[in-house]
Amino acid sequence: MRLAKYLAHSGVASRRASETIIFDGRVTVDGAVITDPARDVDDLNIVKVDGKRVKTEGHDRVVYLLHKPPNVVSTVKDPEGRRTIVSLIPSKERLYPVGRLDYDTTGLILLTNDGDLAHRLTHPSFEVPRTYRARVANSPVHEPAMRALREGVELEDGVTAPAKVRKIASNHLELTIREGRKRQVKRMLEEVGHPVLSLERVAFGPLRLGELEMGAWRELSRVEIEHLR
Ligand code: URA
Repeated sequence: MRLAKYLAHSGVASRRASETIIFDGRVTVDGAVITDPARDVDDLNIVKVDGKRVKTEGHDRVVYLLHKPPNVVSTVKDPEGRRTIVSLIPSKERLYPVGRLDYDTTGLILLTNDGDLAHRLTHPSFEVPRTYRARVANSPVHEPAMRALREGVELEDGVTAPAKVRKIASNHLELTIREGRKRQVKRMLEEVGHPVLSLERVAFGPLRLGELEMGAWRELSRVEIEHLR
């Protein structure tokens, strides 16, 4: 449906007034300002006027993608009173983190008000690929360590599944794993002789961190949520 018609249908304003609102640059579709009233949209898009979501039926599930800063816990509450990721998003919803990142790990983490979705995405059988970038000690990293990471590393909770590994620089590695064990990347790298100095998650399933600044977040569109399933 044309964007102007969509706004009118949603009760924002008349068709003509909706066009003016669009020309004035007050409307975003999936985060981008759209000034073309003929732009095609549907209920899978997130349409906002002056930053406020245009109401349509059945859109009560939200998923946020956050660029987690360091020194933040990825739980809902912290008994020690440290800052939580949930407190970084000023949402009225009750949000659950999808999995965990360590206190000092930065990067992509999802939060949602859909407990089922959060549970499913982190269930081992789902095998969502997660990509991390790690700066490591004792560089350069030689081929035997790279091979061990690719083939599987013996940890106290069992051998890790094969990982994709590439070198970004002599002390900087990118690893993609499909398991989500506690402190897994740090333990794998420690085991092959290269303790982690800093760790960032750059991708989760089809989602990328991209240019999102540290501490910033964005809401996923319906299409992005569908691709996660
Ligand atoms: N692996 C780790 O070691 N830490 C994280 O935070 C995530 C994956």
